[in-house]
Amino acid sequence: MKRLPAALLVLLAVLTLGLSVYGFMAARSREQAQRVAADRLLLYTDSIEATLKRLSHLPGTIALHPDIGAVLERRHSADGFNRYLETIAQTAGGAILYVMDRSGETIAASNHATPLSFVGRNYSFRPYFRMAIEGGVGTHFAIGATTGVPGYFISHPIRLAGKPVGVAVVKIEFDDLLANWRRAGEPVFVTDNHGVIILSSVAPWQFKRMRTLSAAETAEIEANRKFAGTVLAPLEYQASGGAFEGEVTIDGNRYLASSAKLAGESWSLHYLTPLSPILDTAVLSGLLAGLLALLAAAIAHLFRVRAQQLLLARQAREAERIRAVNRKLEAEIATRRQAEQALLQAQASLVQTNRLAALGKMSAAIVHEVNQPVAAIRTYTSSGELLLKKGRKSEAADIFAQIRRMTERLGRITSDLLLFSRRTGQGFRPVDLNRPVRAIARELGAEAQAHAVRLETRLARRPLVVSGNPVRLEQLVSNLLRNAIHAASEQAGGRVVRVTTRCDDANIFLIVEDSGKGMSAETIGQLFEPFFTTKNIGEGVGLGLALCFAIVDEAGGRISAENRGEGGARFTISLPPAGAAGRSDRADRKTREAEHA
Ligand code: ADP
Repeated sequence: MKRLPAALLVLLAVLTLGLSVYGFMAARSREQAQRVAADRLLLYTDSIEATLKRLSHLPGTIALHPDIGAVLERRHSADGFNRYLETIAQTAGGAILYVMDRSGETIAASNHATPLSFVGRNYSFRPYFRMAIEGGVGTHFAIGATTGVPGYFISHPIRLAGKPVGVAVVKIEFDDLLANWRRAGEPVFVTDNHGVIILSSVAPWQFKRMRTLSAAETAEIEANRKFAGTVLAPLEYQASGGAFEGEVTIDGNRYLASSAKLAGESWSLHYLTPLSPILDTAVLSGLLAGLLALLAAAIAHLFRVRAQQLLLARQAREAERIRAVNRKLEAEIATRRQAEQALLQAQASLVQTNRLAALGKMSAAIVHEVNQPVAAIRTYTSSGELLLKKGRKSEAADIFAQIRRMTERLGRITSDLLLFSRRTGQGFRPVDLNRPVRAIARELGAEAQAHAVRLETRLARRPLVVSGNPVRLEQLVSNLLRNAIHAASEQAGGRVVRVTTRCDDANIFLIVEDSGKGMSAETIGQLFEPFFTTKNIGEGVGLGLALCFAIVDEAGGRISAENRGEGGARFTISLPPAGAAGRSDRADRKTREAEHA
């Protein structure tokens, strides 16, 4: 449906172009033809005028011949003059020369020796004779009364003692001129003052009339036998404007008529340019233009189709490229997935390995920690038995006291480990951080005193409520204070442990400071790792700070350790206040993780 109007439009455009080119070419060719016609007219008028002019002086010259008077008066034989005229006529060519007396009878003629000799003939009826015998120069076109050959007559009076006594005449015949015209093959003709065609390159048109003659004209023609009785048939033609000019049609052929007046006579020269070659050229040009336009349209169409094909091919290539990229991507994704899978497996095995390693490390530490007291207990038990057998009761009691301390130590280790094994996040509730601090400070008061350590508590006045397990919070405070007391007790004097609670807008803080010797950088790096200890065997198992870390992390807080500027260590715990969203979320997360583990 879409193609039809497009094709119609193209056809319409081609048609319009063809017609325009035809119109343009026709107009141009017509203009050109008119220009050529003007040139040709000039050429033809020149050729006629030159023919007439070339011989027009001859009658005047003959009239001046010294023998002319004697010849006219017949005092002399005309023979000599006949030859004289013949010689001149031969030299001039295309002309007959003759001399008439005052009665119009031909006395001598250049054609005296021909069968159609003018000698002895009377041409007094001719206007040119009358004009000359009256003293003027006569000109006249007529079909020869004797020869039947048309010609142009120029006459000149012959004077004797100033009076016209005869007439010298030249008859110019146009045979050569017409032969030339016919050879040129161009339709050209000359009409006289009556509109009769007197000369024509187209033979059948000769002596046809272009218009109707008046009665006076017919009578005049009859009188001077101008056309020697030839019937003047009308030339059948159709002209667009009526008059013989512009486009005319003669015998079904179309012509462009141009005309020009001839000098001297009231003759007109008509030149006809055949229109059919002009129109044929225009039609051909129009057709050619149309064809070219069609060709151009076809080529444009082909180009468009080709461009569309190229576009489609490009799109197909692009689509294929995208598909290839997609396939590559998919392959890459698959490879990544595999790699991810492999990584997960590696991670899983690493976790497993780490767990095993941690288990190994833990087992080694536990075995180390437990074996010692167990071996000692075994030795002490044997010694105790021996002392009892020997009745040395008080020594045996000392031994038993040692055994009790050993078992207490074992108990501490197992209770610490128990704390790790407990599920995190359990028993959470709002707890005023000051409460566990006060309780533990009270509990350890005696121990501090025993080591000559001053235990300072600087607690916030208002409750600092955090969300946590109260037992584990006590454990946290207890571990930190025990370490601090131990560290402080190792110093010579000024043994102080200070525990502070405070808060700011976002957090609640627990700070434990001591006057001990502080920690090395290496120690700070490993502080919170399980079983890291710098204490002697029997003094510590390295689980205290690991537990602290676990408890703080479980409550959604942070723990950090540093050396104080003035000596000793500072442990800072920050906890979110109870009800803070971040904390409970983290606690929940921890709970979930713990349950998962
Ligand atoms: P333990 O007390 O059984 O050694 P911890 O985990 O409680 O286990 O402590 C680990 C190590 O951290 C201690 O051995 C000690 O070297 C160091 N440490 C802990 N607290 C302090 C402190 N207040 N001052 C200096 N060092 C400390």
